[in-house]
Amino acid sequence: MNRMIFLGLGMMLCARAGIAQDANHTAASVPDTGTLVVRAQWLIDGTADKPRSNMEVVIRGNRIIAVRPANSQALPAAAQVVDLGAATLLPGLIDTHTHIFLQGEDPAAGGYDVQLLKFPASYRVVRAVVSARRALEQGFTSIRDMETEGAGYGDVGIKQAINEGLIPGPRMWVSTLSISSTGGYPLEGYAPEITVPKGSQLIDGPVEARKAAREQLDKGADWIKVYMTHRSWLDAQGALVSQPTLTVDELKAIVDETHGWARKVACHAYNGPGLQRALDGGCDSIEHGLELNDVQIAQMIRQGTWYVPTLQVYYTDWDSADTDSGKRDRKRVALHGVSFSKALHAGVKIAFGTDVGGFKWSEPIAEEFSREVQFGMTPMQAIQSATSRAAELLGKRGEIGVVAPGAYADLIAVAGDPLADVKALAAVRFVMKDGRVFKSLKDESAQ
Ligand SMILES: [Zn+2]
Repeated sequence: MNRMIFLGLGMMLCARAGIAQDANHTAASVPDTGTLVVRAQWLIDGTADKPRSNMEVVIRGNRIIAVRPANSQALPAAAQVVDLGAATLLPGLIDTHTHIFLQGEDPAAGGYDVQLLKFPASYRVVRAVVSARRALEQGFTSIRDMETEGAGYGDVGIKQAINEGLIPGPRMWVSTLSISSTGGYPLEGYAPEITVPKGSQLIDGPVEARKAAREQLDKGADWIKVYMTHRSWLDAQGALVSQPTLTVDELKAIVDETHGWARKVACHAYNGPGLQRALDGGCDSIEHGLELNDVQIAQMIRQGTWYVPTLQVYYTDWDSADTDSGKRDRKRVALHGVSFSKALHAGVKIAFGTDVGGFKWSEPIAEEFSREVQFGMTPMQAIQSATSRAAELLGKRGEIGVVAPGAYADLIAVAGDPLADVKALAAVRFVMKDGRVFKSLKDESAQ
């Protein structure tokens, strides 16, 4: 963390605290060093349909204790005030599909495989620590990380280090190794005589499936991630086909076990039989869902299944148009936008997720908002998909993804109006997590 940020911010806080004292010196007899007030011209609170103007958010410790018109009440003498001027204040954003252990690997630099075959575990952890920091810098104060890609239980330790304040990063929900079936995950394409590591825990049969879930839950998984489809290609008619992986019985064993621990199951599923098995097996969230048919959409609504589409990642790194894989890449996005629009208008619960790590952490995570809007969300719906709706997916409604009394003090601010242009969310200039300022508007130039 850049020490200059805190120095600069400290100066701003002192100055503001002085103003607050002068304006409210009737309250000067009530010393309260623990109160922080954040003001901005606009507030989008994560749940309301409209923004409110000239509000202030009162924070004590790591919680929001009041949200009220600015200057409507006297402040304690020692209260610190952060005035963000014309900015728009929002809840800390939530990305429900990340991979801190992936870095948008360049095939020319060894791609996915080199990470598992040549990189020391410690090196992968260091890169993941940097990724976690990048999430926070971009205003994502909570993430659901969707498996470590061969880096074992590294996510559990990183989450612990963040929670203990050793390193900066978002609140994390981790899913450790993930589960797929034999033939259902890389590394692939090596001589059959040699054993190579796999980026997922591979199981066959309901007994192994349940055992894998038990192991991962026991060792710290907050969610279980299951791959229900693997390879995909176009058939002779040009339709997208995806190889299914686990059977319904295998998945049901995992879901039953995980629900017994009061935790949930996220299923990577593109389309076809694998997606159908994911729904029939009782998955709590469908990841990607490139091609959802009307019957599956109705089933998702009936079962209360979440949809985490991750639209933008499929627009990156297309193979050339005259190759089979290039044709598949283009077909995927054509189907995906239609599925998203249909699911949205049918009322499927949609949470913001990006698959960042599948693309580089140096690229803006917020690109996903533009895709959501392109395929039918209003900017406010897109914002809520990454705030209150995402919080609901995580079982944290009212605690994160909202600016309201009782919630954690996770706040961000952007300079423009994200309701006029969601691209404004790519330029986050103030980040507070757990009541502590991580990044501030004034010190942007210091970074
Ligand atoms: Zn993913």
